[in-house]
Amino acid sequence: MSVFISRGYDEHEAVLFFKDRETGLKAIIAVHDTTLGPSLGGTRMWPYENDDEALEDVLRLSQGMTYKSALAGLKLGGGKSVIIGNSRTDKSEALFEAFGRAVDSLNGQYIAAEDVGIQVADLEIARRITPYISGISEGNVGNPSPATAWGVFNGLKAAAKYRLDKEDLTGVKVAVQGLGQVGYGLCTHLKEAGADLIVSDIVDQSINKAVQELGATAVSSDDIARQDVDIFAPCALGAVLNDETIPHLKASVIAGAANNQLAEPRHGLALMDRHILYAPDYAINAGGIIVISHEGPDFDRTAAMREVAGIHDTLLNIFKRAEREKLPTGEVADRIALERIHAAREAKKQSPEKIKLTG
Ligand code: NAD
Repeated sequence: MSVFISRGYDEHEAVLFFKDRETGLKAIIAVHDTTLGPSLGGTRMWPYENDDEALEDVLRLSQGMTYKSALAGLKLGGGKSVIIGNSRTDKSEALFEAFGRAVDSLNGQYIAAEDVGIQVADLEIARRITPYISGISEGNVGNPSPATAWGVFNGLKAAAKYRLDKEDLTGVKVAVQGLGQVGYGLCTHLKEAGADLIVSDIVDQSINKAVQELGATAVSSDDIARQDVDIFAPCALGAVLNDETIPHLKASVIAGAANNQLAEPRHGLALMDRHILYAPDYAINAGGIIVISHEGPDFDRTAAMREVAGIHDTLLNIFKRAEREKLPTGEVADRIALERIHAAREAKKQSPEKIKLTG
C-alpha cells in the first residue's frame, strides 16, 4: 500500500510500525493530528489478513478520532493503534509490556485506550511501562460504555425534539439494533423515559433479557431497519445506512451509537433527500471519550456526565446549521471540527512570543 497517497493518510503527523521479535508484537500507532492536544484513541487487536489492511484501518480510525474530539470540544487530538493478532489466542503479559514500550516511545504524543479485542486488564499491563494509557480503573473512569449510552440518549432526545417536536419520549417508538454494552444501556434510559422499544440482536440471551426486563418487542436482525418506528438507533455494526436499507427506512430520525453508520458519505445526502434526520455517529457517540478526557486523580463523574449530556446541544447546533446551509448533518459535523482545528492552528501561529517579537 502506498501510504502517502492513501485516502486514510490525510496528512497524518506520524505513523509508526513496531515489531518485537521476543514477544511477537506487531503493532502500528497512527498519530493523525495533535493541534488541539495529545492524540488519544483506542487500541484494536484484530487478526488482519495482511499488513495493508491493518494500516488502512488504523489510518481511518485515527483520522476519525481527530474529528470526534474536536467536535466534542476536547483538548485532544486524534490517534489510534492496532495490534495485529488474535485477541483470543495471541495475548500475553510480555506482549502488552512490549506494547507499553511502543506507546511510551512517543512521549505522550499518543495515549492509548480500549477498543475491539482489548480489555482493561491488557492495558493495565501496558500501564506498568508507560503513563500514556487511559480508560483503565486507575483514575476511576473504568468502562466508558455507560457514558457513551448516556450521550446517545441525550443526542437522541435532541433529534426527537428537532424533527418530531417531542420533548417527552413517552410513546415514541424506537428500534434499537444491537443490545451490547451501549445498546442495552440506551434501552434502559429509553424505557425509563417511556419510549416503546423494538429490538434486535444476534444473541438470543440479550434479546430475552430486553424482552423480560424492559418489555421490548423483538424482531429479526434483517427486519430491524425497516420497522415502522419514529427513531432507528443502530448500536451494532457500521455501514448499516446503505443503498439497500435507506429506501426502506420508515423512521424519520437515525440516532445510534455504532461507528461509521453511513456506508459511504453520499448516503448522508440520500438520507437528507428522504427528509430523515441523521445524528452524525461520531457526534452522538462521543460520551466515552468525553469521560476519558476527565480522567485523573481529581476525576469527578458527575461533572463528566454533565459534559456528556452536552451532546444534546452539540447535535441541536448541527441540525440547525445543516438546515440553514442545506447540507447533510455529517458534512456539517466535519466542517465544525475542521473549523476548530484551523482556528487552533491560527492561534498557535499568533503565539505570545511571536506577537512580542513582531509587535
Ligand atoms: P458490543 O460488542 O458490546 O455490542 C454489540 C452488540 O451488537 C452485541 O450484543 C452483538 O451481539 C450485536 N450485534 C452484532 N451484529 C448484529 C446484527 N447483525 N444485528 C443485531 N445485533 C448485532 O459493542 P458496544 O460497545 O455496545 O458498541 C456498539 C457500537 O457502538 C459499536 O459500533 C461501537 O464501535 C460503537 N461505539 C461504542 C463505544 C463504547 O463506549 N463502547 C463508543 C463509541 C462507539
